[in-house]
Amino acid sequence: MSNRRQIIAGNWKMHKDNGEARDYAAKFLELVGEITELDMVICAPFTALSVLKDELEESVVHLGAQNMFWTGEGAYTGEISPRMLTDMACTYVIIGHSERREILHETDEMIAKKVKAALNAGLKPILCVGENLNQREDGRALATVRGQVERDLPDLSPEELRRVVIAYEPIWAIGTGRTASSADAQEMCAGIRSTVAGIAGVVAEEIPILYGGSVKEGNIQELMAETDIDGALVGGASLDAEGFARLVRNALG
Ligand code: PEP
Repeated sequence: MSNRRQIIAGNWKMHKDNGEARDYAAKFLELVGEITELDMVICAPFTALSVLKDELEESVVHLGAQNMFWTGEGAYTGEISPRMLTDMACTYVIIGHSERREILHETDEMIAKKVKAALNAGLKPILCVGENLNQREDGRALATVRGQVERDLPDLSPEELRRVVIAYEPIWAIGTGRTASSADAQEMCAGIRSTVAGIAGVVAEEIPILYGGSVKEGNIQELMAETDIDGALVGGASLDAEGFARLVRNALG
């Protein structure tokens, strides 16, 4: 457990219509609406942001998106700009999730542009990095993740880096029920922090680093007890308001 601000972020992925989002928000606020000891974030599909903006207004739960484009406006059919997200009261945006890197072929170059654009718009990017199973088995997990961090966060000032959140998400642990051991997750998160220190010196101590990959009510406490793990990015276990509320309470220890 560190003295950095802790964050529990839910990633709904491509789930929930507007009625479901409204019901979820009401229930979640009823259960955890008074918690201020850590930051709670819901990263919802674009279509649910308007409803959630109204439901979560003036609450302690922050709103985030799951992706965005890197320019302000223009002929980019199907894309969403950073300003469209701030207009929806988003304060966070997930960038470079492994599903987008793998299925939609997002490159580190695109991801770096998105991180910069998010920061320029006043959003906090949650940059996702992580190795696949082959890379882990070949002993290249840390080198893979270091490379991603270096390529995805180039040329940022210390002030900009302070607003970045990094999520370490081993691909083999996402949606598989297989979680990294807390010792392995700690080792990787410490490696990420030392990579950021190589880029930005002491600022690395201020950056929240989250773990993601089959986080549940039952393992969050053990993960959060590690020195360099400042919270979690939660997929499947964030979809049920009551279960996610229990996970948040367990994170408090
Ligand atoms: C994620 O998609 O960011 C994630 C960590 O998913 P899950 O918790 O379902 O493994």
